[in-house]
Amino acid sequence: MARKIIIAGNWKMNKTIAEAKELVGELKGLVAAVDAVEVVVCPTFTSLNAVVEAAAGSKVKVGAQNVHWAESGAFTGEISADMLKEIGVEYVILGHSERRQYFGETDATVNQRLKAALTAGLKPIVCVGEMLEDRESGMTEQVLLTQLENGLTDITAEQMANIVIAYEPVWAIGTGKTATPEMAEETHRYIRCTLKSLFGEVAEDVVIQYGGSMKAANSGELVAQKNIDGGLIGGAALEAESFAALIKNAVN
Ligand code: PEP
Repeated sequence: MARKIIIAGNWKMNKTIAEAKELVGELKGLVAAVDAVEVVVCPTFTSLNAVVEAAAGSKVKVGAQNVHWAESGAFTGEISADMLKEIGVEYVILGHSERRQYFGETDATVNQRLKAALTAGLKPIVCVGEMLEDRESGMTEQVLLTQLENGLTDITAEQMANIVIAYEPVWAIGTGKTATPEMAEETHRYIRCTLKSLFGEVAEDVVIQYGGSMKAANSGELVAQKNIDGGLIGGAALEAESFAALIKNAVN
């Protein structure tokens, strides 16, 4: 069975509610006829409700950018998985490099969030990726192995089938520098082999997205690679036209 292509837009800390509704309103129409791809947008917490309503009945699905591991309690500033489910959110991004870099996210906390997301029935997008110095010192595979082993601790093969991995080389995020399709494919192949050794044959069904300066001009050749099953997009997802063009080029 061919793997699904999933293209998700990470809006980060951008867009007011009004802007978010406008973007989704436009995007729905632009991607309505694009088959064979799951389109996801991940707005800020304040826009989630409005975006779920604006996307209703369309092929655009909605994701959050983070979730806490506890069901409820004294965790000021946090949001639980059930709270996201309650308003119709389907996906959640976990362990984005900005969370790791600026907010102390670790593989251990990613793992806790992951378990909470799965328990609530959310589809997690778990981000992994090396820093520039890791790549330059030949440590990419070791870094990814550690992130995968620790981030996916105690996850079953059955659960793994519902987890999306986003490979995002940190040096390519928001920099305009994209990994070449060959370089990205080599790393995606390594990630799939690692998943196979950790979880067995289910690894063949796991969607592995590429993220890092993906845009309409390069989405086609990246997603054409055997082990690249879509993308996690930052900058190019902030406008409906550019995001829709990226999606169309990725699947045509
Ligand atoms: C991201 O932040 O996940 C990302 C891939 O950003 P950009 O597309 O802007 O590089």
